[in-house]
Amino acid sequence: MPATQTQFRPDQDPTLDDARSLLSRVWGHGDFRGLQSQVVTEILAGRDALAVLPTGGGKSVCYQIPAILRPGLGLVVSPLIALMTDQVEALKQQGVAAARLDSGVSLDERSAIWAAARSGDLDLLYVSPEGLAAGAMMDRLAELPLSLIAIDEAHCVSQWGHDFRPDYRNLGLLAERFPNVPRIAVTATADARTRDDILRSLRLEEAKVFVDSFARPNLQLSAERKESASRAKTDARVIELVRERRGKSGVVYCGSRDGCDRVAQALRDAGTNAIAYHAGMDTKERDRRLERFLAEDGAVMVATIAFGMGVDKADVRFVIHADPPGSLEAYWQEIGRGGRDGEQAEGITLYGPSDIAWTLRRLDSRPMAEEVKQVQVRKARQLFAMLDGAVCRAQAVRRYFGETDAEPCGVCDICGDPPLLYDATVPAQKALAAVQRLGGRFGRGRIVDHLTGRTKAVQPWEQQLSTWGIGADISPNGWRDIVDHLLFEGLLVEDPNDGKPLVGLGDGEAVRAVYKAERKIEVRRVPAGYDAGTRSGNPRNRRDRTGEGRNAALETMDADVRARFEALRAWRRDR
Ligand code: ADP
Ligand code: MG
Ligand code: ZN
Repeated sequence: MPATQTQFRPDQDPTLDDARSLLSRVWGHGDFRGLQSQVVTEILAGRDALAVLPTGGGKSVCYQIPAILRPGLGLVVSPLIALMTDQVEALKQQGVAAARLDSGVSLDERSAIWAAARSGDLDLLYVSPEGLAAGAMMDRLAELPLSLIAIDEAHCVSQWGHDFRPDYRNLGLLAERFPNVPRIAVTATADARTRDDILRSLRLEEAKVFVDSFARPNLQLSAERKESASRAKTDARVIELVRERRGKSGVVYCGSRDGCDRVAQALRDAGTNAIAYHAGMDTKERDRRLERFLAEDGAVMVATIAFGMGVDKADVRFVIHADPPGSLEAYWQEIGRGGRDGEQAEGITLYGPSDIAWTLRRLDSRPMAEEVKQVQVRKARQLFAMLDGAVCRAQAVRRYFGETDAEPCGVCDICGDPPLLYDATVPAQKALAAVQRLGGRFGRGRIVDHLTGRTKAVQPWEQQLSTWGIGADISPNGWRDIVDHLLFEGLLVEDPNDGKPLVGLGDGEAVRAVYKAERKIEVRRVPAGYDAGTRSGNPRNRRDRTGEGRNAALETMDADVRARFEALRAWRRDR
């Protein structure tokens, strides 16, 4: 049975001050932060809203507090049983009358919950989108006064997102069934297309949209190219990274269940309290593992993306991607599980060209409309371009989210150690020309052989091509770097369907821009044998072995960015 309804009912319309005092009485928080107070004000006034706040930004209270203050029952649609359970249990402990209706609730409990709702003894009712879609529930709700309808993790409505849930599509019906009830959608996924989709699908045309800054200044981000496609090498690197952070709590994301089990085992063998977590386990087993992760000190969760939405462990000190995520949104959400307590945390992503092929293969095998697939492919490419790029990580992602004025974070690997960039436009033109002539017949390694003219396997027709051996001035390793970079930028593409992927040309327009030298290609390492005089001009991206370059870069930083950077360097030293 739910607890009795909270005795906190002002006689007049609830005000923001009432909301504040509830926040402090029930949640113990001193004040609202960020856009919370604006969102709460909007809902208290009975209007619709869409709130896009970062993970950990405190989206729940944005609907929980108005639901308690406004007369009637607050309905919350939530995509996962685990999420509902967590929130409902927490609310009950705080003395709020909350309940959930999901497949795990017995018939007796159900009738008790409906009875409590009818007698006005319930503040908040959590339901799943499937439960609501069944129809009978809608009819019952229509007989009750509702204070508001909240749709949590609202990006699940959008096919463009990475958590698409078909039943979310039906939630647009709520607009018709409950025209006078204010509705609020919340999500941490911000890109404009998903936002529009949410507004349209949920029929929130009138809603005021709140988008908070996605800055997470306490996260220190970095990305490393994998040494090779060898799993053993990548596993060894992950183990090393975790060992360097011994005793700290963290998450390691793997791209597959097998990978999860393997890495978790290897970490345990290396003496880490590692827990595997993926959808191959039944719900009970997963819950048990989640509890261990929350309770045990220094536990490391090794998980697929099955582990994620709504996980609220405050002291996660690092998030390592053993395999890269599928998009910049997924990246930001996943690394965002670190440092929710506001203290420093690290996000480290390992990536390689074979991961692109793997990502594309996985997308290809999923049943979805061609148009949707194209968007997902583009999103994956944008992620890899960021990972292999030389722009501040946080700035790149926030700009992608539409924060055009985002400044460099000052603490990521790029800001902290600005890479020297070399203009490799001419070699890139040669590589693109070679791939074009070869007509997608070769894989990465053989393309390098073709460029350097160093293969015994050369065929007569190949020697006839004008591109045969045109890259003899650059070492094979230098070429591999360049070819990989072109793959990361999407100028070259690996055929995802093939066991041994063949490389072809990417987007025609982009390739033409490189041919015409309208688009510059910059790489981080000077290819051996290549004229070093072509170093790129941006002094912020310059560094030399004496460290002077780094200091010059520091001088051009804003004072506060610089202060954060220095503090973080000190923190890393002292660890
Ligand atoms: P999300 O936006 O990811 O759904 P939650 O609603 O789960 O975030 O909140 C994350 C954490 O932040 C919770 O522990 C919550 O109690 C806390 N929190 C929310 N609002 C505030 C606030 N105004 N001040 C301090 N902590 C807050
Ligand atoms: Mg949440
Ligand atoms: Zn940065």
